[in-house]
Amino acid sequence: MKRRFIDPFAPAEVQRLVATFGSPLLIIDCERIRAQYRKLARALPGVDLHYALKPLPHPAVVRTVAELGGFLDLATTGEVQLVSRLGIDPARCIHTHPIKRDKDFRNALFAGVKTFVADNPDEVRKFRRYRADAELLLRVSFRSPGAVSDLSRKFGCDPESALELARLAAKLGIRLKGFSFHVGSQARDALKHVEAIEACLVLLKKARREKLGPLDTLDIGGGFPIDYAQRVPEIGRFCAPIRKALAGVPKDVRVIAEPGRFIAGPAAIGVASVMGRAEREGLWWYYLDDGLYGSWNGQMFDHASYPIESLKKSDDQKPSVLAGPTCDSIDVIAENILLPKLKVGDLIIGRAMGAYTWASASEFNFFPRATVVSVNETPGDTGKVEPQG
Ligand SMILES: *Cc1c(COP(=O)(O)O)cnc(C)c1O
Repeated sequence: MKRRFIDPFAPAEVQRLVATFGSPLLIIDCERIRAQYRKLARALPGVDLHYALKPLPHPAVVRTVAELGGFLDLATTGEVQLVSRLGIDPARCIHTHPIKRDKDFRNALFAGVKTFVADNPDEVRKFRRYRADAELLLRVSFRSPGAVSDLSRKFGCDPESALELARLAAKLGIRLKGFSFHVGSQARDALKHVEAIEACLVLLKKARREKLGPLDTLDIGGGFPIDYAQRVPEIGRFCAPIRKALAGVPKDVRVIAEPGRFIAGPAAIGVASVMGRAEREGLWWYYLDDGLYGSWNGQMFDHASYPIESLKKSDDQKPSVLAGPTCDSIDVIAENILLPKLKVGDLIIGRAMGAYTWASASEFNFFPRATVVSVNETPGDTGKVEPQG
């Protein structure tokens, strides 16, 4: 029999996976990881995609991206060790945490990772003792006060001081590869990317003129948006202004990006089961085995609203409340959501739950994090659970 890919988000498959692996689950579909990767690669031709592990640091995702010829973006020793354990070529990885301890440098260098990021003079000076091996990308910040999460507040140097920082690096004998930025996650439009690309191209030109290093890399970060309850432009359309801005990049400069959410988000669903129910003030409350302290923490920390539905369908729907399992009153996933009448064991699905969900979940009240099942890593792969970390 020919081994084929299945759709693990189809109701019958969700039921089979819960029967096999229990509940709650996070189901990763590697075919959808591939589809997301290819869509972004088409939207950004000539740009090397470094999947940022942070939103979903799972071996199946890393292997799937690597098999497509993709690259990786690491930020911690744990992430370095994960890709090392999988035998990924460290030359395909960059380390982008702007603040590193000595042991973070050493662990990454030991694994063979060479490219690192800094955004301030103290951090640049840390590169001095590793300058034989470590190369530097300078992270520049472009504030977007309107963004859902403005990543340029916590990290990045002013564009005005970037050249001074580049001169410091050159003076210390550090190999300066280029400039990077991250405009903030789930960007609303590409205007910040464009502004940042244009500013970084000016910086590259000036730094090259002063011969401050090889300066052969431009890193345009992440931030590529996906559909949640709120829809966003299709990625090819979103990236059109970025493609235009990148047309001005010199031929000998390699352009890279650090997509996280776009690759992982749509490729996984969360599945939770009803543990119990109660009728309170005329509304049915359903208590699930996953909630705001688990996979749904992204509703708090990531400002995401996942499309939620019941696996069981019915025309007779009533406004209901979906609550998480913990004894904390804040642990409510959705109020006033239309649902059929559910019973214990019925399943609730959250869509687009691959990014910043399971990765940032806690085990508050000793409710364990969802079990992660990956499907379709190879044709005929109907689902497996593997050690993490
Ligand atoms: C989190 C992060 C990313 C991924 O960002 P997305 O918005 O998920 O694409 C990329 N690079 C760095 C440095 C990050 O911290």
